[in-house]
Amino acid sequence: MPVEIRAKIKEIIQRNYNVKSFRLEVPGTLDFKAGQFLSVELENNPKFRRYLSISSSPTEKCHLEFTKKLTQSDFSKALNNLKAGDQVSIEYPFGKFILDESLAKVAFLSGGIGITPVRSICKYAVDKNLGIDMVLVYSNRSVRDIVFKDDFDAMAKSYPSLKIAHVLCETETGFKCTVGLINSSVIRNEIPDYRERKFYLCGPPQMVEAMRKILVEEMGLNSGRIITENFQGY
Ligand SMILES: Cc1cc2nc3c(=O)[nH]c(=O)nc-3n(C[C@H](O)[C@H](O)[C@H](O)COP(=O)(O)OP(=O)(O)OC[C@H]3O[C@@H](n4cnc5c(N)ncnc54)[C@H](O)[C@@H]3O)c2cc1C
Repeated sequence: MPVEIRAKIKEIIQRNYNVKSFRLEVPGTLDFKAGQFLSVELENNPKFRRYLSISSSPTEKCHLEFTKKLTQSDFSKALNNLKAGDQVSIEYPFGKFILDESLAKVAFLSGGIGITPVRSICKYAVDKNLGIDMVLVYSNRSVRDIVFKDDFDAMAKSYPSLKIAHVLCETETGFKCTVGLINSSVIRNEIPDYRERKFYLCGPPQMVEAMRKILVEEMGLNSGRIITENFQGY
């Protein structure tokens, strides 16, 4: 059952040039599953309400975090003006983009800010040492657009069953990545055992639909092996 609460902002973290995380102090226990989302409302103004994935993991018990790509919208501007100590109203948890812990192998295909629920799920699996083999193929325009890079590098270091493959639109000297877009050959190359995995796709609706088509129509995967989260609004 979703709950509605007012929560104080504990910390704001600049993730890259246009992405910020907001860590909330939440009274009581945090009851959500990694990968779920919340709705946030600013200053009791329903106009300023957005759905945002929870980017923290239930294992991170000191805070509840959401992470927003800051656009030119009124909502983004109002959010960007908030400071530690300010309050927001949230309702959570929602959504079915959650990890099936009985699986041995999963893959994530994500683009840009679509990494937020993936970060939550991976952090949960790493902290719980679930032993699930995870591959993340993460596409961005350039290195400066990557969100949570340090987090994922630290997770991959402590959990050898997490592999991260970056896909960028442009080359970057000294940075290991594939240049271009995620397509069937990138997936085959980075995830040779793709037939054994459940796929989690998250990003703008156009990207998610393109990925789903590649997996189903070009690579012959059953659509039942694919879970999606569409970030409507991008
Ligand atoms: C389940 C879910 C999880 C999400 N998680 C994140 C996240 O973790 N981080 C993040 O940055 N964004 C996330 N989004 C997207 C977010 O809710 C906003 O839609 C997006 O950030 C754009 O809002 P804006 O205020 O920046 O831009 P705006 O200019 O307000 O929005 C851009 C355009 O999208 C339209 N729009 C806005 N919200 C919606 C909507 N819900 N459905 C359809 N159209 C809409 C607006 O009318 C406008 O035309 C998520 C969306 C969903 C549905």
